[in-house]
Amino acid sequence: MHLARLYGTSTGRWETLAVHHTAEAVPAMRAPHDLRRPVRLLAGLYVCGDHRDTSTVQGALHSAHRAAAAIVSDLGATGSLHQADPVRTAARAA
Ligand SMILES: Cc1cc2nc3c(=O)[nH]c(=O)nc-3n(C[C@H](O)[C@H](O)[C@H](O)COP(=O)(O)OP(=O)(O)OC[C@H]3O[C@@H](n4cnc5c(N)ncnc54)[C@H](O)[C@@H]3O)c2cc1C
Repeated sequence: MHLARLYGTSTGRWETLAVHHTAEAVPAMRAPHDLRRPVRLLAGLYVCGDHRDTSTVQGALHSAHRAAAAIVSDLGATGSLHQADPVRTAARAA
């Protein structure tokens, strides 16, 4: 029923070919899980990945954003990380 909803088709005639259980495939988040582990380990050493936030793609991406923000901040750069276009320099603008 679930696959029928997902694919928008009848699965009434589908057969189960195999079932695989992959133990420990997904990272564990045992309580108490620290959702905001540091991304700056030492001066100049940064880490990111699902082990820094939630154990999900979203967590990995969020930690990457935090690490990028830490690098930008440590380099003394300013500006938004959300800026889509590169900053125009005088040479480029000319
Ligand atoms: C079976 C399964 C199903 C999942 N389903 C979902 C889901 O539905 N939704 C969801 O949000 N998340 C899901 N996840 C979790 C999600 O995939 C991870 O949280 C996410 O991929 C972590 O991203 P990451 O970049 O931190 O690490 P990874 O994607 O693991 O990337 C780490 C990379 O580093 C490389 N690497 C490791 N050691 C070294 C080394 N020494 N030198 C160089 N490279 C190295 C690895 O080869 C790998 O490419 C699932 C995970 C699994 C296993």
